Amino acid sequence: MEDCIFCKIVAGEIPATIVRETDDVIAFEDLHPQAPHHVLIIPRRHIATLNDLTAEDAETVGNMARVAAEIAAERGFAEAGYRTVMNCNQQGGQTVYHIHMHLLGGRALAWPPG
Ligand code: 5GP
Ligand code: ZN
Repeated sequence: MEDCIFCKIVAGEIPATIVRETDDVIAFEDLHPQAPHHVLIIPRRHIATLNDLTAEDAETVGNMARVAAEIAAERGFAEAGYRTVMNCNQQGGQTVYHIHMHLLGGRALAWPPG
């Protein structure tokens, strides 16, 4: 997808600190981390928002969650706890229109969100 910053990261056209790559998913460090650990997990395929998911995407979205849990375990904060977040559209706080799962860990996180 032209002009999609995350598609450009998938294509290697702009730099990112890649944490993990699978057939359908990549994970990289968030540019503006909001916690000691803040990783973004995205599908390689361009999907603009959660509203655009189809049944065919189910496995990929499942893999995104699994990769998040694996990274949390590798980094040693799985037991302490962490948060995964997928923002959708304007009121959900989505700013990049290629779906992504935030993995936030390494500190206690407040709830409810603002
Ligand atoms: P959203 O607000 O859409 O849920 O989250 C977008 C996230 O992407 C933000 O946390 C933001 O810091 C991150 N981000 C935006 N542009 C870039 C970029 O070019 N590289 C990386 N690594 N993260 C980015
Ligand atoms: Zn994209």
